[in-house]
Amino acid sequence: AKTSGRNTYKMFDHAISNEIAEKTVLGTYLRSAMVNKEFLLHYQPKIDMVTGRISGLEALIRWNNPQLGMVSPLRFIRLAEEMGLIVSIGYWVLQEACDFAARLYKQYPELRISVNLSSVQLMQTDFVDKVKSIIEQANIPPQMIGLEITESLLMESFTASVGKLDSLKEFGMYIELDDFGTGYSSLSYLKNLPIHAVKIDKSFIDDISETNRHNNITEAIIKLAHMFGLSVVAEGVETQDQARLLTEYCCDTFQGYFASKPLPEEDVKSFLKTYKYI
Ligand code: C2E
Ligand code: CA
Ligand code: CA
Ligand code: CA
Repeated sequence: AKTSGRNTYKMFDHAISNEIAEKTVLGTYLRSAMVNKEFLLHYQPKIDMVTGRISGLEALIRWNNPQLGMVSPLRFIRLAEEMGLIVSIGYWVLQEACDFAARLYKQYPELRISVNLSSVQLMQTDFVDKVKSIIEQANIPPQMIGLEITESLLMESFTASVGKLDSLKEFGMYIELDDFGTGYSSLSYLKNLPIHAVKIDKSFIDDISETNRHNNITEAIIKLAHMFGLSVVAEGVETQDQARLLTEYCCDTFQGYFASKPLPEEDVKSFLKTYKYI
């Protein structure tokens, strides 16, 4: 028992030092990733469930490092926040998304490209001005750009964050509450947020199935969001079954591998031309 105890302890130690080692290595490479142009964006289509058409794209960052290979954002976004790098990364993401929107505008003026936002970005005092100026310089209507925010992001400094989002909504941008259902959302608070839509977290979508059809809260969430005048996006839709049930529940938009994985820019245009859900 004594030995196994010591071994457990060792493993624990080992896990921690591994984590620190990984952070150090990632951090070293991350610091130069921007100047070395190692970031790129993939775009995942959002499908309008009524028209069956693509209504938007979510920009998802990818990091391709020569030594590390492709690194998932789940592994480096938090670190980028801790290192203070997320602010410049975030503006780069927005700039890229706006440039792509500008290239798509003539053919797809109704299309919207959304970017994910970190709380550290929103905390910057000049955030609103910088976002507006990036969009103005790209010469696209602000309606073409969306922001995906999380509840934890809002909680950081509620009043200031809501004020900033309100200005950007006023400016014309589209605001979505991401990972909805996983946080502490109270109903009254949902009513007062400057948002257009909620994105139901994948964990709820995973529970939807034909055998489980009266036993999930997704339908209730959709009804509730509609009562507040909000549009509803389902994320992580992987099967036809899920898509069909979501249509029955009057969900407005879906996103997920069932329609498409996130795509590199060169694949987006052909997808836009050929995709049909209904
Ligand atoms: P998220 O915003 O919740 O994005 C959804 C994630 O689910 C993406 O992972 C996407 O590729 C994945 N996904 C989409 N459809 C499906 C599906 O049908 N099945 C499964 N299993 N997964 C699906 P990804 O691209 O690895 O991004 C992970 C997270 O990293 C994002 O979660 C977001 O929070 C963050 N992130 C990504 N790009 C950025 C960025 O530019 N800035 C910031 N601040 N965060 C970002
Ligand atoms: Ca998102
Ligand atoms: Ca999400
Ligand atoms: Ca999620």
